[in-house]
Amino acid sequence: MDRHQKAALEKLAGKGIRFNYPMHQRTTYQVGGPVEVLWEARDLLTLKEVIRYLSGESIPYHVLGKGSNLLVTDDGIDGVMILLKGSLATINKGPEDSLIWAGGGLHLTDLMKWCRQKGMSGLEFMAGIPGTVGGAVVMNAGAFGHAIGEKVRNIQCVVPGGKEVLVNRSDLKFSYRRLHVQKNSAIINACLELSRSTPDKVSLKMGDFLKTRKETQPLDAPSAGSVFKNPPGDHAGRLIEKAGLKGRKIGDAMVSEKHANYILNKGNATAKDILSLMELVRFEVKRTSGIDLEPEIKIVGKKA
Ligand SMILES: Cc1cc2nc3c(=O)[nH]c(=O)nc-3n(C[C@H](O)[C@H](O)[C@H](O)COP(=O)(O)OP(=O)(O)OC[C@H]3O[C@@H](n4cnc5c(N)ncnc54)[C@H](O)[C@@H]3O)c2cc1C
Repeated sequence: MDRHQKAALEKLAGKGIRFNYPMHQRTTYQVGGPVEVLWEARDLLTLKEVIRYLSGESIPYHVLGKGSNLLVTDDGIDGVMILLKGSLATINKGPEDSLIWAGGGLHLTDLMKWCRQKGMSGLEFMAGIPGTVGGAVVMNAGAFGHAIGEKVRNIQCVVPGGKEVLVNRSDLKFSYRRLHVQKNSAIINACLELSRSTPDKVSLKMGDFLKTRKETQPLDAPSAGSVFKNPPGDHAGRLIEKAGLKGRKIGDAMVSEKHANYILNKGNATAKDILSLMELVRFEVKRTSGIDLEPEIKIVGKKA
C-alpha cells in the first residue's frame, strides 16, 4: 500500500487502525511478522465502505478471527487484516425461539457461555475450540463427530465490492473443515439453530467434552490445533506417530508427544521452523504410508 492509500484508509476507517502490527500478538501460535494494517471494524456500514475501497484499489485483505487456525509467515502480510468487533460481535435472538444470530467476531467462549446460561443446546461439542463464530463457520470447525455447519441456517456476508448478501442454507456448501464461499467474503453473522434444554444439562455436556479435550490434546504450549486434515478413513495423528515423528523438533517447533497432529511452539519458534517441520512430516508420512497430508491450518503472508 502506498502512503496515499494508507491515509485514505485511515480517513475512511476512523479509529481502531494500526500500522505495521505484529501478528504474533494476534495468533495462538504466537508467531508471524507484521501486517501493513490491522483494523478493528465496529459497525457494518463502515465495514462495507472499507471493503468497497479495498476492492476498488485491489488492496489485499483478510478477516481475522482469534488467529487460532493461522500460521502467519515471518515476513508478515501485505494489505489489511480486519477484526470484527462491537456490533459485529453480538448475539441476537432470531425470529423463532430456537434461532440465534451470532456475530462473525463473537468469540466462541462467549457463545458457549451464553448457551450455558440460557440452556440452549446443540453446540456443546464446540466447547474448548478457541475461535470466533466467523472463523468457525469458514473452517466448518468441529469435534467429536460434529461440525458447526450442521447448525447453520444461513449466513450474512460482505462480499468483495462491499455488498451485503444473505446466503441461505440451500446454497451453503459445507465440507470437512471448509465452507465453500466466495473468496474474501467477510462473514458478519451466522444464524444458528439450537434447541431448548436446561443450563445444567448444557453445562454437564460441555464439561464432558472439555474433559476429553484436556486428556487428549496438548494445551500447555502455543499451537493452532490440528495441523493436517484427517485423510478419508484415517487420522493424520496416527500416520505421523507411525512415521516415528512424535517429539521431532526443528528449532523451537515440536511435534507433540501427546497428539502427533499438533505442532507446538515450545518457546521461540518461528513460522519458518513450523513450516519446515510440516514439510518434514508430509515427506515422512508419504514415505512411510504413501499418503499426502493436506494442511488444515491456513498459511498467510509473504513467502521468504
Ligand atoms: C488448542 C486448539 C484447539 C483447537 N481445536 C479445534 C477443534 O477441535 N476443531 C476444529 O475444527 N478446530 C480446532 N482448532 C482450530 C481453530 O480454533 C478453529 O479452526 C477456529 O474455528 C478458527 O477460528 P478463528 O476465529 O481463530 O479463525 P482464524 O484462525 O482467525 O482464521 C481462520 C480462517 O478463517 C478466516 N476468517 C476468520 N473469521 C472470518 C470471518 N468473520 N469471515 C470470513 N473469514 C473469516 C480467516 O481469514 C482464515 O482464513 C483448535 C485450535 C487450537 C489453538
